[in-house]
Amino acid sequence: MAIITKSSEQETQNAGDYLAWPFFETHHQELAKNINQWAIHELGDLQPDDIDEACRVLVKQLGDDNWLRYAIAGIEYGGFSAQIDTRTLCLIRETLARHDGLADFAFAMQGLGAGAISLFGTKMQRENYLPKVATGRAIPAFALSEPEAGSDVGALQCTASFVGEHYVLNGEKTWISNGGIADFYVVFARTGENLGSRGISAFIVDGDNPGLSVTERIDVMAPHPLARIKFTHCRIHASQRIGEVNQGFKIAMATLDVFRTSVAAAALGFARRAFDEALRHVKQRQMFGKTLADLQLTQAKLAMMATGIDAAALLTYRAAWLRDQGHRVTKEAAMAKMTATETAQQVIDAAVQLFGGAGVVSDSPVERLYREIRALRIYEGATEVQQLIIARELLQEPSYKPQPELPAGAAETGNADRKPDPKIEIRLDIKPDPTVESSTAGQV
Ligand SMILES: Cc1cc2nc3c(=O)[nH]c(=O)nc-3n(C[C@H](O)[C@H](O)[C@H](O)COP(=O)(O)OP(=O)(O)OC[C@H]3O[C@@H](n4cnc5c(N)ncnc54)[C@H](O)[C@@H]3O)c2cc1C
Repeated sequence: MAIITKSSEQETQNAGDYLAWPFFETHHQELAKNINQWAIHELGDLQPDDIDEACRVLVKQLGDDNWLRYAIAGIEYGGFSAQIDTRTLCLIRETLARHDGLADFAFAMQGLGAGAISLFGTKMQRENYLPKVATGRAIPAFALSEPEAGSDVGALQCTASFVGEHYVLNGEKTWISNGGIADFYVVFARTGENLGSRGISAFIVDGDNPGLSVTERIDVMAPHPLARIKFTHCRIHASQRIGEVNQGFKIAMATLDVFRTSVAAAALGFARRAFDEALRHVKQRQMFGKTLADLQLTQAKLAMMATGIDAAALLTYRAAWLRDQGHRVTKEAAMAKMTATETAQQVIDAAVQLFGGAGVVSDSPVERLYREIRALRIYEGATEVQQLIIARELLQEPSYKPQPELPAGAAETGNADRKPDPKIEIRLDIKPDPTVESSTAGQV
C-alpha cells in the first residue's frame, strides 16, 4: 500500500468560492460543503491493493451515508428527487475526485450503470434495481463498447434475438467498468435489421446469468474494475428490455447527456487537486534564493492553470444548470466534457512540472492525478467525438443562418431573459430523431 497526502481542509474551502456562482442554489452550496467534510473524514489515505474489494467497500460506504441517492432518479425508488439533479451529481463527483479518484469512480458508476433505468425503465425495473443501487446493495455496469465498436457505436455487433418471451444475447463487450463485480449490466445489443445506430435496444442482464461470462480483466494506468465480457446464448425475459425496441442508441445517448457533464466535473476535481498541490509546493520550495512561487515563469503557469480551471468550471456548471432547467444539453455537455478533460490534463501536467523530480514519484499525489485524468479524454466520447458532436449541433441550430444585427445592449443582457425554446426536445422525450443516421450520430 502506498501513502498519499490528503487534500487539506483549508484548500478545499478555498476551492469552494465558485459555489457563490448563480448556477447554484442554497441546497447545492450546503451539499458541496457536506460531501467535502464527508470526504475529508471518511476517505482513506491508502492506495488499496485489492481494487475490487476497495470498490465494493466504497459503494457500501457511499450508500450507508446516503450519497448514492443523488445518483438515481425517483424518490419512491430511494432517489433524492424525481429527476437526477445534474448540479448535485457534478458537485459530488467533483468533490470526490478531488479527494480520491476511486471514490469518484464508485459513485459515478452507480449513476451511469443504472442511468438508463432511471431515465427509461419500467416501474417494475425501477422497483427491482434502483433501491438497491441507491443504498449500495447492488453495483451496476453500462455495457455499450465492443472490441470493434468504441467511438463508432453504430458498428456494434452484439445481438439480441427475440425467441418466444425471451431475448437471447450473443456477442462481446469490452472496457466495461465494474465488469466482474457488477450485480447487473445494462447492455446495448442489435435487435433490428437496420444498420448503424438504428436497430439497437437496451437490456438489463443480471450478473449471475449463466450466459454471461467475464473473459478478461483489463489493467489500466489508474486501476479500477474493468473487464471484457461475453454473452453466449444468454437468455433474459422480454420484460428486461429497457424502453422501446430499436431505441437503444437514443437511450444510450440520453444517458450520456447526463453523465458526460459529470465526467467534466470529475476532471475539474482532479484539476483543482493538482492546482492545490502545486500551489502549496511552489510557496515552500526554495530556489535561487527565493521560493519557486516568486519566479515569474511560475506565476505565469499558475495564472494559466487557475484560468483554465475556472473556464472548465463555468462550462461544466452551465451544462448542468441548463439540463436542470429542462433543456437538451448535447452541445453544452460535449463542450464541458471536452474543455474540462483537456484542461485538467494540462493543469495536472503543469503541476507535475512544478514538482520537478518529486512529481514523477510513483503514487505521489500529482503522479496519481496524471494517471487518473488520462482516460477521461477517451471514455464517454473521446475529445474528437465531442468536437464532432459540437459541430453537428452548431450546424443544425437555426442561429447558424445569418442573423440580423443585435439591438444595442443585447450583448450585455445575454440570455438573461431568454425563455426555453419550445422547439428544443426535452431529453426524456425520445421522439424519432432524424439526425440519428448522420455521420457523427453513431459516435460516443
Ligand atoms: C478506463 C475506461 C473505462 C471505460 N468504461 C466503459 C464502460 O463502462 N462502458 C462502456 O461501454 N465503455 C467503456 N469504455 C470504452 C470507451 O467508451 C471507449 O474506449 C471509447 O468510446 C473509445 O473507443 P475505442 O477505445 O474503441 O477507441 P476508437 O473508437 O478506436 O478510437 C480511437 C481514437 O480515435 C479518435 N477518433 C474517434 N473518432 C474519430 C473521428 N471521427 N475522427 C478522428 N479521430 C477520431 C479518438 O482520438 C479516439 O480516442 C471505457 C474506456 C476506458 C479507457
